[in-house]
Amino acid sequence: MSDKKQNKRNNNKNYDDDYNPKFRKQRKKVCLLCSDKNFVLDYKNPEQLKKFINDKGKILPRRTTGACSKHQRDITTAIKRARHIAILPYTQN
Ligand SMILES: [Zn+2]
Repeated sequence: MSDKKQNKRNNNKNYDDDYNPKFRKQRKKVCLLCSDKNFVLDYKNPEQLKKFINDKGKILPRRTTGACSKHQRDITTAIKRARHIAILPYTQN
């Protein structure tokens, strides 16, 4: 009985070592536009811009997209242009 309990605790401890929610392994985010030289941001291409908006139609922050500051600005401009010509929604629901 006590042995079983001990095992369980140990297992949990091992699990915590692998996956600690406080210190998640941070995967280095690389800017999508910097990494792919052939990637041309086009405000007339909604499929491309949908990657940078959430389900409410809001522009995703840099911490989510991983874009560098220069490209985040480009993305923002492209999305705003697309919204203006009614390719992308300003809001959903
Ligand atoms: Zn970039």
